[in-house]
Amino acid sequence: MNVCRAYLALGSNLGDSKGYLQAAIQQLSTHENIEVVTCSSLYQTPPWGNTNQPDFFNCVIEIQTNLSAIALLDVCQTVEQILHRERKEKWGPRTIDVDIIWFDQRAICTPRLIIPHPYMYQRAFVLIPLVEIAPMFTHTLDRLPVEVCEEIQKIAWK
Ligand code: ADP
Ligand code: MG
Repeated sequence: MNVCRAYLALGSNLGDSKGYLQAAIQQLSTHENIEVVTCSSLYQTPPWGNTNQPDFFNCVIEIQTNLSAIALLDVCQTVEQILHRERKEKWGPRTIDVDIIWFDQRAICTPRLIIPHPYMYQRAFVLIPLVEIAPMFTHTLDRLPVEVCEEIQKIAWK
């Protein structure tokens, strides 16, 4: 079966956020059908959508997988469940969020899965870490207001 490259965006703003991000990457990297190729730095970012909540920690990772996109979404959602993700309100605080940003240059539009991720071009917390590890996306930063980029405080990953 084909091996595909995908980019995942991870975020957390509840509890031990850095620990949840590391645990999520660990879960993904131990999956037999997933290889984690690169991790971006960790970024502290202001909340988006629902602004009355703590700052987030975000990163983007590159993976290789022989899973289908929908099977990869299942894995992402399983990792969220293992790490105590609760869905109480839209864009509310969460221990962990794992979104598929990009999958093998494909465009997918189904009720459960949209690729590229529908909000990726509006979210500095996705685009800035993405460009760090995938310079081919540099053009996407043209879509972000400068002040949004400047709000993000880069924090060393370790
Ligand atoms: P958000 O990530 O926008 O904060 P959720 O994590 O609660 O919200 O996801 C809501 C729904 O988005 C999921 O049930 C999932 O089926 C759907 N979804 C659509 N496209 C994607 C994608 N590319 N990556 C992850 N989830 C997606
Ligand atoms: Mg999500």
